[in-house]
Amino acid sequence: MDIQSLLRTLPKVDRILEREDISALAETHPRTLVTDAVRETIDALREDILAGVERDVSVDAVASQVVELVQMKAMRSLRRVVNATGIVVHTNLGRSLLSDEAARAVDEVARSYSTLEYDVETGERGSRHTHVESLISRLTGAEAAMAVNNNAAAVLLGLAGIARGREVIVSRGQLVEIGGSFRVPDVMRESGAVMVEVGTTNKTHLHDYENALTPATGLLLKVHTSNYRVVGFTEEVSLEKLVALGGRHAVPVMEDQGSGVLVDLRRWGLPYEPTVAESIAAGADLVTCSGDKLLGGPQAGIIAGKWHVIAALKKHPMARAVRLDKMTLAALEVTLRTYLDPDRACREIPTLRMLTTPRAELATRAVRLSDQIANACGDAYLVGTADDVSRAGGGALPMADIPTTVVTVVPQHMGATELEARLRSSEPPIVARINAGRLLFDPRTLTADDEAVVVSALKEIARA
Ligand SMILES: *Cc1c(COP(=O)(O)O)cnc(C)c1O
Repeated sequence: MDIQSLLRTLPKVDRILEREDISALAETHPRTLVTDAVRETIDALREDILAGVERDVSVDAVASQVVELVQMKAMRSLRRVVNATGIVVHTNLGRSLLSDEAARAVDEVARSYSTLEYDVETGERGSRHTHVESLISRLTGAEAAMAVNNNAAAVLLGLAGIARGREVIVSRGQLVEIGGSFRVPDVMRESGAVMVEVGTTNKTHLHDYENALTPATGLLLKVHTSNYRVVGFTEEVSLEKLVALGGRHAVPVMEDQGSGVLVDLRRWGLPYEPTVAESIAAGADLVTCSGDKLLGGPQAGIIAGKWHVIAALKKHPMARAVRLDKMTLAALEVTLRTYLDPDRACREIPTLRMLTTPRAELATRAVRLSDQIANACGDAYLVGTADDVSRAGGGALPMADIPTTVVTVVPQHMGATELEARLRSSEPPIVARINAGRLLFDPRTLTADDEAVVVSALKEIARA
């Protein structure tokens, strides 16, 4: 058949819309979505025909393509995935999971009116800061505190509030970039502060700061180099020494701590990371950190510090632009409350629970999962377990290899990259690591639900 006659055999839009299966779709989905899907399917077929690609243009074939397209279009863009990577605070997969109690609090304030800015005792207007301020103070020892949209906003607000139009002294070794768009020099410029770099990449001494002090100095800044380490011939000035220097010259000191550690992680066998309380005790005027890295709460920026500094930040015009919404506040309040009992925090906050899951438990879960896969999928895969390492992720604990046991899957009828891609496009998508022709599934970041999802997805792919 020539191209013109082929094009004439293409079903018309109305012919497809009239079909019972397609009109049934329009009852459960917006009509425009279905009509768009029909048009797009027919347009794509027309283009293929014009390009000389052979296509089945029967009404049945077109209709079944439309059904698939409607289902794809109706799927939420932001939805669950299974994280089998073993990277706990996975920046691309939503960082930290909320505890059950935090998620319930979000659900409650989302569906009800709430005390967001209302004081039930006086019947008057309240402040949204009250829900978390005393908790942060209690957990960090700070005089005052507030929370904003994320740590980037916390740093920006801190710099703008304390040092706009003034000089901020920072070590060259701490001019970090975190996740692409957060770069200390850029944030500094946007805040209106003037950056004064001192020292070298690997070594900065106290006298470097001291020599840079001028009457225009507004702040000494220390940044936690969360996602990398300079090792070897290195030197950093401790926060204590910066505070003492600042004190002698009446210049405040701010620390961007990044990860948000509220409890000494060594308590649970993890590597040492400075806590917010330690920086407050060292005398920092302001400390900022993320709410959804090691802290394990919702996306937020925690700001703790001296009373007069926090009071000024609360009143800053930028504070409104970076303030938290009620759902985040609900999740943050519950997460912080959980920390009042640290061991409960370790059990209930998923980020902490995953990071501290005992090695023996991970090994047991890996063996169980590999048995389930082997039983369900016959000889489609070669399944086993192996020693490997998990990571904290999110730029936290960058040097820490956290030992784990992974399930290894070697597909027998396709390549590992193809299996990896198929798992990614199953529903929910499953994200696994590839290593030397094997797929690795780390039980550390899998919930009990996830394990069943992995088994059935692998079974489905084996059958197809
Ligand atoms: C992660 C991080 C930030 C950015 O925090 P967000 O909560 O992602 O905005 C800033 N500074 C440091 C040191 C960090 O580790």
